[in-house]
Amino acid sequence: MKLLTKISILATSVALAACNGDDGQNGTDGKNGQSSFVLQTVVQPGHAVCANGGIQIDSGLDKDGNGKLDAGEITSTTHQCKPTKTSLSQSDLLTNANNNWYVQSAKSVEDAKQMALKANNERGGAKNVILFVGDGMGVSTVTAARIRDGQNKGMKGEENNLSFDKFPFAGLAKTYNVDAQTPDSAGTMTAMISGVKTDVGVLGVDEDIERGNCTTVSGNELVSAIELAEIAGLSTGVISTARITHATPAATYAKSADRNWEDISDMPDAAKTAGCKDIADQLVNFETNLEARYDGLDVDGLEVVMGGGRRHFLPKDAAANSPDARSDIEGDRTDGRNLVNEWKAKYPNGDYVFEDDGFRAINPETAERIFGLFNESHMQYEADRSNDVAGEPSLTDMTEKAIKLLDNNDKGYMLVVESGRIDHGHHAGNAYNALEDTIEFSEAIEKAVRMTNPEETLIIVTADHSHVFTIAGYPKRGNPILGKVVAIGKTEPEKAADDKPYTTLGYTNGRGFMDLGAETDADAGYDQDIHAGRADLTDVDTTTPGFHQEAAVPRSSETHAGEDVGIYAKGPSAQLVSGTNEQSIIFHVMEHAIDLINKAETKLKP
Ligand SMILES: [Zn+2]
Repeated sequence: MKLLTKISILATSVALAACNGDDGQNGTDGKNGQSSFVLQTVVQPGHAVCANGGIQIDSGLDKDGNGKLDAGEITSTTHQCKPTKTSLSQSDLLTNANNNWYVQSAKSVEDAKQMALKANNERGGAKNVILFVGDGMGVSTVTAARIRDGQNKGMKGEENNLSFDKFPFAGLAKTYNVDAQTPDSAGTMTAMISGVKTDVGVLGVDEDIERGNCTTVSGNELVSAIELAEIAGLSTGVISTARITHATPAATYAKSADRNWEDISDMPDAAKTAGCKDIADQLVNFETNLEARYDGLDVDGLEVVMGGGRRHFLPKDAAANSPDARSDIEGDRTDGRNLVNEWKAKYPNGDYVFEDDGFRAINPETAERIFGLFNESHMQYEADRSNDVAGEPSLTDMTEKAIKLLDNNDKGYMLVVESGRIDHGHHAGNAYNALEDTIEFSEAIEKAVRMTNPEETLIIVTADHSHVFTIAGYPKRGNPILGKVVAIGKTEPEKAADDKPYTTLGYTNGRGFMDLGAETDADAGYDQDIHAGRADLTDVDTTTPGFHQEAAVPRSSETHAGEDVGIYAKGPSAQLVSGTNEQSIIFHVMEHAIDLINKAETKLKP
């Protein structure tokens, strides 16, 4: 900025000229004298003379009468510098300090300081551990669900927090399997629950296994945190909205050369002949199998088991169907065994339930144990739950009941809670269900936080892996997360280079665009043709439950992604979750928190 001030007046010039007796410098018309100019220039901080900036004042006579002070006409230069400050005054920061973003972030740092001071590094500082696993809940899923949840509550959304967004400690997990860049749930959950990374598709065994080869299991079995907790005398529980024999929950209790061996009909003859047991069998016989491995060990088995997957426990016989069976023959088992009945015989004081009424009737303060199998296959998507034949509890309901039952044990408990269907919503290419299940997962975590004492319970929230799910384009703040991209200042959707609108959410691969309207079951998309690539969404409501996002690469189902996932923690030892880690760190944080190995060892050598 330049301030050019003509401060002289003619008389002055004339007078000066007269005094000097030198009229040769007067204007040609004899009455206009030379003008004296002062040129003020603002100089920026860092200036050679004014280190903090200020004003440079150049003055001189406009000798050539061109109405401006040229460089050669400057006869004097002075500066008015801003004062040099040696400290920040309050007023310097006033603009920042009056800003809510500033205030909020400063408070977060203050809170973090307090949390760091209170951090409990003591081995065995925790009595209980709850591990929440959002299957397929990558960071983009967390962000989109946070926005969706906020928008469901009438907020713009981006400023919202899911329950675990507020956890004081977080880190990242590298999710690759030993033999794969992009992992599956079997290898990843084995890493989390046993502290050992392993191959894709195998449960509770190390990388020396050959997937699908039963004879390679022996000698490569790992011990899981659930098993150690059981040996240590803690109460134990496993919950999932997927089949309870599915990879994530199964990694807590089973050793299997293949995650797909959910019941005996899924196993090759060679595996059966070689003596491998199916996963459902290993669940029902968890107590017996664990005791068989350690001389003199007496444990009481899993107190809480809830999820879907009834078909793997029932014989392939219509007579064994549950009252709410969907298939003509619900059971898959080809060995004639009814594992639900075997469980009831083993635990006559336990409660087996298959629907919501039975679930609600259980008093967790007095119940000894619960075995809930609420669906033939996976439990419903949360958005589709009201369509269940006989009614199902939500993940939050199951978490609440589990904690109430497990905390009857003074020694503490270990609970694993999986939201299994975030993953399935994504595989189907349907963000609506993936996000609604993530929100329900967040609610379940919130419930657990409210029900437990932060001084004695470590809660870890993480995902096994991510999905090829993105939040894209430049939508304006508060744009519906399931909507089409509308830019800042606009009301109509942006057009891509192909002149068609596009959604914020999308997938790199999968079945692609589908408009199934009010359909709340994402899996209905598997009955539709694959439609990868672009569609004209001009007249499509992309915010409906049945909208399936576009996908670039056609595939029979959308895939996992290989990037890191978040680990969020609160409670004793939570501060050990920091930085970027191999996923197997999660076992070791839990182990440290409740001194699991020592407690189990003490129990084995009384
Ligand atoms: Zn998956």
